[in-house]
Amino acid sequence: MKTLKRQKRSVSLGGRKLRTSTGKDTKTVTRARGRSSQIISSVAFSRNVETFQHLIETSPFGHVILQDSKILSANLMFAKLMAFRSVENIRGKKFSGLLTPESQRTFNLMVRRLERGETPIQKFDLVLRRNNGTTIDVETTVIRCEVDGKQAFALHCSDITDRKNLQRRLIDSESLFRNVVNSMGDALVITDLQGKVLDVNREFERLTGYDRSDAVGKEIPYPWTDQISMRSVMDWLERLRKDGSLRDFDVTWVTKEGRKIAVSLNTTLLRSSSGDLAAMANVARDISERQAAQRELSNQVRRLEVLYELGRLLTGTLDSQEIARITYQQVWKVIPFDVFFLDLYDEERQELRPVIWYDRKGEDLVEYQVPERAVPLAESPACVRVVKSRKSFLELRGSQATSEYLRFGEVSALSKSLVFVPMFSKDRIIGIVSVQSYEYQSYTQEHVTLLESIASVAAIALEKAKLYNETVAKSLEIEARNKELDDFTYVVSHDLKEPLISVEGYTKILKKIYEDRLDGEGKQYLQSVIESCGHMKRLIEDLLQLSRVSKVQEHRTTIKLSELVTQVISEFEFAIRDRKVKIQSSDSLPSVLGIEAHLKIVFRNLISNAIKFCDKPNPLIDITATTEGRMAIIRVKDNGIGIEPQYFDKIFMIFQRLHKREEFEGTGAGLTMVKKIVESHGGRIWVDSTPGEGSTFSFTLPVP
Ligand code: ADP
Repeated sequence: MKTLKRQKRSVSLGGRKLRTSTGKDTKTVTRARGRSSQIISSVAFSRNVETFQHLIETSPFGHVILQDSKILSANLMFAKLMAFRSVENIRGKKFSGLLTPESQRTFNLMVRRLERGETPIQKFDLVLRRNNGTTIDVETTVIRCEVDGKQAFALHCSDITDRKNLQRRLIDSESLFRNVVNSMGDALVITDLQGKVLDVNREFERLTGYDRSDAVGKEIPYPWTDQISMRSVMDWLERLRKDGSLRDFDVTWVTKEGRKIAVSLNTTLLRSSSGDLAAMANVARDISERQAAQRELSNQVRRLEVLYELGRLLTGTLDSQEIARITYQQVWKVIPFDVFFLDLYDEERQELRPVIWYDRKGEDLVEYQVPERAVPLAESPACVRVVKSRKSFLELRGSQATSEYLRFGEVSALSKSLVFVPMFSKDRIIGIVSVQSYEYQSYTQEHVTLLESIASVAAIALEKAKLYNETVAKSLEIEARNKELDDFTYVVSHDLKEPLISVEGYTKILKKIYEDRLDGEGKQYLQSVIESCGHMKRLIEDLLQLSRVSKVQEHRTTIKLSELVTQVISEFEFAIRDRKVKIQSSDSLPSVLGIEAHLKIVFRNLISNAIKFCDKPNPLIDITATTEGRMAIIRVKDNGIGIEPQYFDKIFMIFQRLHKREEFEGTGAGLTMVKKIVESHGGRIWVDSTPGEGSTFSFTLPVP
């Protein structure tokens, strides 16, 4: 260890002789003016004390000697630093009075250390309060010395205002930078060109859970980079090298707790002031929520598409098997399953009618042959549960899956996740649909809701198909019954006609041969029998004609109504002349699709009724028509006796008449026949009438 050699030097500062000591090494500075030969050991100093003194006086640094805390002497520079005009103005001032409180504490600490003989801090900063009220930053060195045998302190101060300002600016810009970086809503990772992390911001810490200290210094592969994403990270580096920057590069990060987050990286290469590539700034945005929202949106769109497609496809079918198959295909697009079934449910009978059943066999979903017979509800505990609760249910089984809900005992595995959904038509359950998976935890409430939506669309189609099939069955039944009735009417009328003709014939013979032998009353009876026979014959003929109308299955042709009506009118030539009837028929009556013979019966009946039920001297009949869409509306208007509104329906029923035979001849079958013909043409008939003024019979017929 090098031992410091004791040295003594003396120099004059402001006319004072100093003796300085630094630790154990003591230097004596002797008052130089005129006594330079007294310098103890430094030959150089003693030789040129004047020069040395001059150096201090003109030094660009402030020098000051303190004794008893007061300024004993100082150089010009120190006076200048303190904004005093001359050294004289500063001498004798208490040094602590020139310091800010903070600097007072620092200075006192240093002085105490020196007094205790401790090694003082080489340089420390003080803030001096200048004479003009401002402050000045100085870097200070202090040593203990002796002046006139008494302890003193020699201070060396240099102005560090510029340095401090620079420092302040640096600190300001550094903290500004930190603030900006930390207030970023995106995570920032600054790396060197090899990917070694140089810095991260607070958002990075929040997002990943890794502290700045954890992250700085990390190299690729980073602990927050997903293994699967590694390849894309390499891809990212490659592209970065090529393009110099990267926009919206999606990768997966893993947080410190192991949670995956989707981030979108934007990377920029940073250059040094000399223009060389220096670092990379990676701004990472958490897009997990955005991705989740996007996923959810596309799921919703998919579901809507499926529901729309389902609705569209189901309008094209009225077959329950087909409906079930379409439903199965659409469900498959949005809900994965290993088992799918759809049963119809008969609430009254408490029976299930399986329509479709699919089960996975290896890779394929195989359609099962469902039983033909209806299955009692009680045989299916799951369906019992749905029917009783009237709600869907989701069952996620543990490892102890049971065969509780097995239907046909043949399924390839036991379902671990099951969804059962009732199909409602208004309040009635009309079916049950189920999806099942052989995997655990396959379904969520979301799947249940989705299947419910699909089930309700399918339920509407099933209900529509059921109604249609019921209507078809009913109309077939009605048709069959009507045919039976017509056959019966035909046979009965035909068979009745024969004996009636005999009765009428024999009565007429009786009248012819035995009329002379009968008294007046007898003759009257005989006449009544003949008339009744005639009426009955007309009744039977009307009945026969009515049943023939149904029996004849002719093809419809295009018929010019104007021509047909003219022909029918000509049949009434005699009555027209006799009753002075005026019939107006539009020349522009449309053509219709129909059976000519039948339409003639319609006009014949309506015209004859219009003439018959007229109490006016000049019966007036007006036949007009308009066309609405595919139907022509034909109106036959008269100025006859009219009909009370309460009989508007009754007159179309068979043998229903509003008058006695004596008043108006007839059987009451005419309008029934007219109605039957119009309806068999796909039209309808109705009457509007004002009693005493006349009636209008309107009916529709299809136009070609
Ligand atoms: P019928 O003419 O043989 O009595 P319809 O079936 O043709 O039998 O008519 C049924 C009943 O409707 C008639 O008895 C009559 O009371 C009433 N009716 C039909 N046409 C007219 C009409 N144009 N004006 C008033 N009443 C009518």
